[in-house]
Amino acid sequence: MASIEEMTVFCKKKGIVFMNSELYGGYSGFWDFGPCGVEIKNNIKSALWRRFVQQRDDVVGLDGAIISHPKVWQASGHVSSFTDFLLDCTKCKMRFRADLLLEDAAGVATEGMRIEEIERLLEKHKVKCPQCKGDLATPKKFNLMLRTNVGPVESDSSISYLRPETAQLIFSNMRIVVETARLKLPFGIAQTGKAFRNEISPRDFLFRSREFEQFEIEYFVNPSKKNTCPFFREIEDMEANVLLADEKEMRKTTFKKMVSTGKFATEWHAYWVASFYRFFTDYGIKAKNLRLREHHKEELAHYASACFDIEYNFPFGWKEIHGNADRGIFDLEQHMKFSGKDLSLFDEETKSKIVPYVASEPSQGIERAMLAFLFDAYDDDKERGNIVLRLHPALASTKVAVFPLVSNKEELTSFTRNVYSKLKREFSCSYDQSGSIGRRYARADEIGIPFCVTVDFDSLNDSTVTVRNRDDTTQIRVKINELAAHLAAVMNNG
Ligand SMILES: [Zn+2]
Repeated sequence: MASIEEMTVFCKKKGIVFMNSELYGGYSGFWDFGPCGVEIKNNIKSALWRRFVQQRDDVVGLDGAIISHPKVWQASGHVSSFTDFLLDCTKCKMRFRADLLLEDAAGVATEGMRIEEIERLLEKHKVKCPQCKGDLATPKKFNLMLRTNVGPVESDSSISYLRPETAQLIFSNMRIVVETARLKLPFGIAQTGKAFRNEISPRDFLFRSREFEQFEIEYFVNPSKKNTCPFFREIEDMEANVLLADEKEMRKTTFKKMVSTGKFATEWHAYWVASFYRFFTDYGIKAKNLRLREHHKEELAHYASACFDIEYNFPFGWKEIHGNADRGIFDLEQHMKFSGKDLSLFDEETKSKIVPYVASEPSQGIERAMLAFLFDAYDDDKERGNIVLRLHPALASTKVAVFPLVSNKEELTSFTRNVYSKLKREFSCSYDQSGSIGRRYARADEIGIPFCVTVDFDSLNDSTVTVRNRDDTTQIRVKINELAAHLAAVMNNG
């Protein structure tokens, strides 16, 4: 697997992702997506949206604003509890995130650790400023929301926040969505879009940045039926690598076993975690690089009663690419309290009002998913002498590259252009006539184009072309009038 530095250089070189504001020396924690990257990112978002919204009867979408009434973030608990701990160097004044500094200096896992414990360990391991070896001050609380002022006057009353998650918009709009879409429990509401966190120390390329995109679902069930999921049979025998909170070693087990042994409190929660686990393997992540990790009780967020992460085995360790919490009724109750409005729904069956229960909140970072897909697909193929980006065709930025065998025969190039413009109506295609065919194959491999179509002099007579497969370099002849159908069939477009 490539190192994070290699991946960063590769992504820049291929126009996938580059540092924001590089012209001015860069702006830490912000990234820009180039021509190839924007396509991959959009493909991941639409694969998620297609599978978890459009192909389902029980989930609808929403697109809320980035800025909401500040009360939303008071009710959600973000104003008071969405914090990290900040450490100042008393000598050089550099600032660090206490938990990450401790992880780096002492090699201890700090997820969910309380501030007192972090402080004690910093002292025990005699952690100093990594820049100047100066003494560190006592850790301070620091809110991770990015602030702004709304309106022309900058004052405390005009303070607003860029959303730190998309989820709250789903809660604050739940009622109107239910009424307008005539939803009945159980149902989900999904949203995809930007979110912002004022990370003290953004790092690991796209993994920890200040601006990112999320795809989130709140899945609401009747609290008295939270353990009966009609779809559970679809996933119960699925195997996953799992690291449980009370175990030290990862092992393979099924979702059925995890429910029957109480690791998942509800079938619904297990079902949604499994569905996203399957999303990653379906779109090409190798099973050995994926695992589930159960959160320890002390690392649960302020709203959650149980949480599982899907982790990917990055070159910098196993890290979360998907979080999935049982959020219960915390958020809706908070919004009822702060708004004074009733957010319960009328249950026809029991003829009573109930507050819907969030059995699962799949929270998917788009950039983290993208980074995992890129690492998993990245193959430095020594035999070919170039990188092969083995992305699933549905995620690849361009699906087909079209080449004329040579570039200096007008008859051939115009014939090829014709094949290309017809194909372009159905797939995202590129046309390339510069350099040798071998060089053009290599360029296509490097950005993960799954199929190359070469038009040669025989094509002019027999109306066939050569289709070359990125993954195994096999080549077959296909009739031009069957080309689009052939490519659609082999593309397996999710
Ligand atoms: Zn210092």
